[in-house]
Amino acid sequence: PLPSGAPIGRVDDGTTPYSRYSGVTVFKQLPISQKTKDGLRESKYVKMTEIQRASLPHALYGRDILGAAKTGSGKTLAFIIPVLEKLYRERYNREDGVGSIILSPTRELASQTFDVLRSVGRHHNFSAGLLIGGHKDVDTEKERVNEMNILVCTPGRLLQHMDQTVNFDCSQLQVLVLDEADRILDVGFKNTLNAIISQLPKRRQTFLFSATQTKSVQDLARLSLKDPEYLSVHEES
Ligand code: ADP
Ligand code: MG
Repeated sequence: PLPSGAPIGRVDDGTTPYSRYSGVTVFKQLPISQKTKDGLRESKYVKMTEIQRASLPHALYGRDILGAAKTGSGKTLAFIIPVLEKLYRERYNREDGVGSIILSPTRELASQTFDVLRSVGRHHNFSAGLLIGGHKDVDTEKERVNEMNILVCTPGRLLQHMDQTVNFDCSQLQVLVLDEADRILDVGFKNTLNAIISQLPKRRQTFLFSATQTKSVQDLARLSLKDPEYLSVHEES
C-alpha cells in the first residue's frame, strides 16, 4: 500500500520538479520566498504537518489540489503559503486587484484564516480583506474590494459583491481556495458556490480542502479543479 500522504494515481519517479521536495520536513527547506520563511518562523511554525508535507510541493509547483485531512491537521498553511508565493512571484501589488479568493464556511473560520494570513504574510506587501457580512458596512467594503489582493470571504458575502459592487473585478484571479468544502456545502452554499465559480476566470489554480470526501465534495471538485493532485492524509492515532 501507498504510504499515507503519498500522491495517489501518479507515479513520482523522482524526475518531476516537485519530487525534489517530497522528503523535505521543515518549512525553511521549501522553495519559497524569504518573506514567507521569516513570517513562518516569527509565527513559530518550523516543522510541517503531514498534509503540509504532502501538498506544498505540488501546490508550489502550480498544481490544483484536492486535499482531505481531518480537522486540526494544518490545512490552513497548506493553502496560505502557495497563495502568498503565487502573488509574490507574479509581483502583485495594490493596483493589480484581486489575485486570490479564499472561501470559508463561517465568519469565525474566515476570521481565523485571515489572522493566519496576516501573521504568516506580515513581511509581504499585499493588501488583504475579510468579507464576512454581519454588521459590517457593505458600502465601505465596496469602495475597497478592488484594492484588495487577497479576499477571505464567506460565499454569501462574496456573491453579494459580485452581484452589487460596481466594477468588482476578479478577471485577474490567480488562486481560488475552497476551504472546509464539506462544511461550505453542509451549510447550504452549493448554489452560491456554483454561481461564484461560474464568474471566475477558468485559468487559475484551485485548492479544495475538506475534512471528509462526500459525494457533493466530489461534485464540487469536478466543477472547480483541473487535473488535481489527490491527497488524503489519515494520521495514525
Ligand atoms: P485544519 O484547517 O486542518 O483544521 P488548522 O490549519 O486550523 O487545521 O491548524 C490546526 C492547528 O495547528 C492551529 O492551531 C495551527 O496553528 C496549528 N498548526 C498548523 N500547522 C502547524 C505546524 N506546521 N506546526 C505547528 N503548528 C501548526
Ligand atoms: Mg481549516
